[in-house]
Amino acid sequence: MTKIIITHHDMDHIGGLPDLLAASEGRIEVLAHEVSKPYIQGEIPTLKGKMLVQPSKVDVTLQDGDILPYGGGLQVIFTPGHTPDHICLYHQPSRTLISGDALTAQDGVLMPPNPDFTPDMDTALKSVAKLLDWDIATVITYHGGVCTERIKERLAEIAEGKN
Ligand SMILES: [Zn+2]
Repeated sequence: MTKIIITHHDMDHIGGLPDLLAASEGRIEVLAHEVSKPYIQGEIPTLKGKMLVQPSKVDVTLQDGDILPYGGGLQVIFTPGHTPDHICLYHQPSRTLISGDALTAQDGVLMPPNPDFTPDMDTALKSVAKLLDWDIATVITYHGGVCTERIKERLAEIAEGKN
């Protein structure tokens, strides 16, 4: 069964989900954090658009610290702030962090979450500080691409509010 893991409920991350699920005819399972679930299922309004989305069923509810068996081990890290439901995923064999929107990148340099779309920056920066506990070789951001240089240093600077 194909899996889709949702990092958070912003529309540029879940907007295509209903059509994908319809086209897959039941062959895709949706995994999302427990805080994401009511947004994705159209039960509560989205944080930023203040609207109910077209519902998609969440099949598996994730929690902080869960280790999923996909790709040799994928750890769920709860990283609220950009949205209250945000998670990052850490691929253990390659030491790769899939950051969603908890981090961005610019010209290969790791950057903070976008302040224009991050209503709770204090919490978001605490989430960045939490990432210092992981041994990260590569970060894949959704907005800005891949970073492989000075990861730990940049995480520390961003967490301290230095851009
Ligand atoms: Zn987002």
